[in-house]
Amino acid sequence: MTLFEKIIARQIPADIVYEDDQVLAFRDIKPQAPTHILIIPKRHVTRVNEAQSGDAALLGHLLLKAAEVARAAGLGETGYRLVINNGPDGGETVPHLHCHLLGGRPLCWPPG
Ligand code: AMP
Repeated sequence: MTLFEKIIARQIPADIVYEDDQVLAFRDIKPQAPTHILIIPKRHVTRVNEAQSGDAALLGHLLLKAAEVARAAGLGETGYRLVINNGPDGGETVPHLHCHLLGGRPLCWPPG
């Protein structure tokens, strides 16, 4: 069981900001911006590279909910970034798909 599956199962505490039957959103334990929230699917998908066509509705829902969480955090006007790290070079450390929502400060581009 991955760390994020343990958070979904409430075996590990998290600062949850949104939940429905398909996704969970909680604050990152090591925030990289004033707002740093992770949005994850409750059903296990390892990473976007392993996602299948049958995951399309779930991935669409995840993205729409990420935008909803961003608006609820007050970032709708100032802007924000959604990031999905994939694999070793992508900086992925937890093998359960997650979308980072970062905002509350100007974010540089390209990332380092
Ligand atoms: P990634 O590097 O893209 O796999 O992102 C994993 C993220 O999970 C990192 O930003 C970590 O800070 C975050 N993280 C690790 N453990 C926890 C935890 N217990 N609660 C909340 N976020 C966590």
